[in-house]
Amino acid sequence: MKWISDLIDIIFPRCCAVCGTPLSSGEKELCINCMIDMPLTEPYRADNEMEKQFFGIIQVERAAAYMHYGKESPYNNIIHRMKYKDRPEIGKQMAAKAAKELIGKGFFHGIDIIVPLPLSAKKKRSRGYNQCDYIAQGISETTGIPIDNKSVIRHIANETQTHKRRDERWKNAENIFRVTTPEALAGKHILLIDDVLTTGATIASCGKSILTAVPDAKLSIFTLSRAGKSI
Ligand SMILES: [Zn+2]
Repeated sequence: MKWISDLIDIIFPRCCAVCGTPLSSGEKELCINCMIDMPLTEPYRADNEMEKQFFGIIQVERAAAYMHYGKESPYNNIIHRMKYKDRPEIGKQMAAKAAKELIGKGFFHGIDIIVPLPLSAKKKRSRGYNQCDYIAQGISETTGIPIDNKSVIRHIANETQTHKRRDERWKNAENIFRVTTPEALAGKHILLIDDVLTTGATIASCGKSILTAVPDAKLSIFTLSRAGKSI
């Protein structure tokens, strides 16, 4: 049936999320050149910059991001397409690729469960999906670690963080998550998933809610991309 997908590609050309050139039938979401040039973070190692970002804020076992989220970078289109263009599958594909690279570094060692950062019910309704669920799926299918997207909820839909100052972002993110079934997470090493790490305020807030409700849990963090350096 390859001729059918080739024909569909001719009638409705699929384009690379980064550079916009038409994709060939073997390419998914990104063309081969953009795939090769991806602005990857350094391979995972303990005590990296991202782990340090959470020092003194929240106890994190391991933390890693797959690629850099640079200002003006065309690679930001991956996140944009995933969140706002109804194409969350790209998040799953990228996360699976990241997981294949991280698995050999021991990043997933001892992790029991994957928790995608929840969206508020209202936001999920308007978007139709939670993009973090797709990132979680890409990691789960590669590592075999199960997903729990029920035990933690976001009960306050905080406003967008994009145009807020650093201190406002932290204030805005406080107490917006709640653990509904702490027993499901008791004693587990949880991998918390988000799409982009900027200040870290939102994911730290979620982590704090989890560790308050489930004091014997451990936390690690994975995000698809990471902006800037300081928290
Ligand atoms: Zn491209």
